[in-house]
Amino acid sequence: MEPDCGDDAAPAKVNLYLDILARRADGYHEIETVFVPLPEPADRVRVSAADADGIHLTCSAPELPADRRNLAWRAAEVFAESAKRPPRWRIAIEKRIPVSAGLGGGSSDAAAVLRALNRLHGDPLDREALHAAARSLGADVPFFLDPRPSLAHGIGEILSPIACPVIPALVIVNPGFPLSTRWAYGHCRPGQAPGRLEALLAALAAADLDGLCANAWNGFEDVAFWKFPVLELVIEFLHVCGCRAAHLCGSGPTLYGVCVSKEQAEHAAREAVERFGPRFRAWACAQTGGWQG
Ligand code: ATP
Repeated sequence: MEPDCGDDAAPAKVNLYLDILARRADGYHEIETVFVPLPEPADRVRVSAADADGIHLTCSAPELPADRRNLAWRAAEVFAESAKRPPRWRIAIEKRIPVSAGLGGGSSDAAAVLRALNRLHGDPLDREALHAAARSLGADVPFFLDPRPSLAHGIGEILSPIACPVIPALVIVNPGFPLSTRWAYGHCRPGQAPGRLEALLAALAAADLDGLCANAWNGFEDVAFWKFPVLELVIEFLHVCGCRAAHLCGSGPTLYGVCVSKEQAEHAAREAVERFGPRFRAWACAQTGGWQG
């Protein structure tokens, strides 16, 4: 066993399309969603062999438990069980993704732990076993095993990669307060989507910015904006900053704006913090080139 498998970036995600279809008998909701990984914000997850038995977790976010309640800890337990390896690991999480933000931070940390432990032990779990372990931890965890633009069905765990050669420049704005995913699912109205998924997928494949902006959709917006009206003000502000479209990330309360360039995303990120105050955090995410419109 190698002593240390190094740092893993645990990226956030955005849902460019999120339709809540129906509630299942087990309480989970069926969704149809387009996941895109974000270069920023991203947590850092470091996994290494420990000197003593057990799971030894440290987490830089004081509001998160550093015990079994942490999804990263549970990921290590699930790995131990699936791979039949006694836990003897150190896990250090440097949290940069805001918590309960709709950005999938906990799921991403859990997937990073599964990936890192599997690597550390010489890949005892094959792709299917790793996927099953991820599914048992949460609906978004499988996406983060191999984060790439994907269409997801079921509760978010049935994934197919999509054509999206370049991710557009985005500004990500977090208002500094949490929104519980459970609350959002409990109060949303399923089945409201405008049926624009095919058009969105075509726009992503063609790097067509206008098509992306016309067809992006998030079914949690009504309920999130009702609970926190400031979020609608932020959306308006992002349009004033030149964003071509702005929507909720996941179940919120983080928002994203679609920009024409990295410079515009950086400008909008600076302006948002200036306008709404230091509790707000903002990131400019951009890859160069590729988009028309
Ligand atoms: P979801 O993936 O459910 O949409 P989210 O992105 O809105 O979630 P997360 O930051 O993943 O929110 O946190 C969701 C819940 O998971 C919080 O209640 C938090 O306390 C718990 N949690 C457990 N472990 C972690 C972790 N490592 N990072 C973040 N949250 C964690």
